[in-house]
Amino acid sequence: MDSLSSLPNRILLLDTMESYFHRPGGKAALLFVDTDNFKYINDTLGHKSGDILIRQASERLQSVMREGDMLSRLGGDEFVVFIKDVEDRAEVLNLAESILRSFRRSFLIGESNLYISVSIGISFYPEDGETTEEILMNADVAMYRAKEEGKNTFVVYDKSMHMLFNERMNIEKHLRSAMNNNEFELHYQPQVEIKTGLITGFEALIRWNSPVLGFVSPLSFIKIAEDSRLIIYIGEWVLREASAFMKSMNDRTGLPYKISVNISIIQLLQDDFVDIVLDSLEESGLAPNCLELEITESIFMESFENTVSKLEFLKSRGIRIALDDFGTGYSSLSYLQQLPISTLKMDKIFIDSLADQVYSQSFVQTIIILGHKMGLEVVAEGVEDADQLAFLKEADCDKVQGYLISRPVPQRGVIELLEPQRRHGPGYSQ
Ligand code: C2E
Ligand code: MG
Ligand code: MG
Repeated sequence: MDSLSSLPNRILLLDTMESYFHRPGGKAALLFVDTDNFKYINDTLGHKSGDILIRQASERLQSVMREGDMLSRLGGDEFVVFIKDVEDRAEVLNLAESILRSFRRSFLIGESNLYISVSIGISFYPEDGETTEEILMNADVAMYRAKEEGKNTFVVYDKSMHMLFNERMNIEKHLRSAMNNNEFELHYQPQVEIKTGLITGFEALIRWNSPVLGFVSPLSFIKIAEDSRLIIYIGEWVLREASAFMKSMNDRTGLPYKISVNISIIQLLQDDFVDIVLDSLEESGLAPNCLELEITESIFMESFENTVSKLEFLKSRGIRIALDDFGTGYSSLSYLQQLPISTLKMDKIFIDSLADQVYSQSFVQTIIILGHKMGLEVVAEGVEDADQLAFLKEADCDKVQGYLISRPVPQRGVIELLEPQRRHGPGYSQ
């Protein structure tokens, strides 16, 4: 028995599966149920609330079980339903549906009404495996897929999923040692002020060259680093490294170049996030208004109060906050006004569609006007050709970043980019 939930535990589950699989001719199914974003609730409200939530979630699950379904808790926020004598798949999928539906009602934890959802992976015996381990593992693999499909859904296992899952595990394994082995490097992509044509700062973008896996794109490893929480250490390193490098560039040129650093929600939720930011400024000697933290809208969706107050505090210290990938998330305009931000970074998809869609031209113009009305600086990301730049200039966009100006470059590339600006002094235009 599991003491927190009073449900059967892992050992009981494995025993039951084992003895069922010994009998010939049985058909069974396994639902692997994992709550979405439980760790955020644990992080923000504390372990006590986390425990209460687990207990309530167990009861919620139990309420939709039918006679004979075995609900167990594997540990953490993972639950497993073992269903014996399955006659047709539809009954299993229906149960998965009822589970999802039962989580649409909120949970009352202390004074807060919290919404949590679950992701479910399903495997069938004997089609998806003949042993307890295989059936469990494949349901787990399907559960991961459900998370990738946006959570709050269920997915039935299929053989093709295994490769992806193994790849993920493999990346995580190597990621664990990457930090100690100095396998990360930062590249820097310049941001140019459209009016003057001058570089005003850079965005730091992490690069991972693994001796085993080769070059791995941040698009594939950042998510894994977040799920495994390794991003806490990696992100801190990025912040310190980028601040120190930009300070050295500012000393060298005598100009206050800015550095933009991407920040993950997982970092922001840590209690010591504010201290780490202030400490990396102090340690590097970089001026606060030369540091810009890039966050995405999902940060506010996950935990509004907690994140807004931290960002407000940092902003009050002179640090800039940019809303990255703006336009791809859910921000309503009224909501935007409540956020402690100084910069809007318009996502590349709007810039890409400038050429062929009239409405996206007016959309971009509107974002720029709106941003300015709110006192924000507007930056266009992913600018690749001169027509886009001309349009953005006409629309009074403040800054551009993109391959047209430069790809992200290593440290020495930054020095090369800044050298001509130094020789020509302010006013030099490209
Ligand atoms: P992002 O913050 O939106 O960064 C912009 C991405 O667009 C970068 O990809 C950059 O190389 C790419 N890019 C810039 N200009 C152009 C262009 O003109 N055309 C095209 N096609 N692409 C352009 P990258 O470096 O692969 O990074 C991808 C994402 O990974 C970043 O998106 C960011 O969300 C994340 N990331 C990168 N470094 C870090 C980091 O240190 N910490 C965290 N938490 N996330 C990071
Ligand atoms: Mg960014
Ligand atoms: Mg972006």
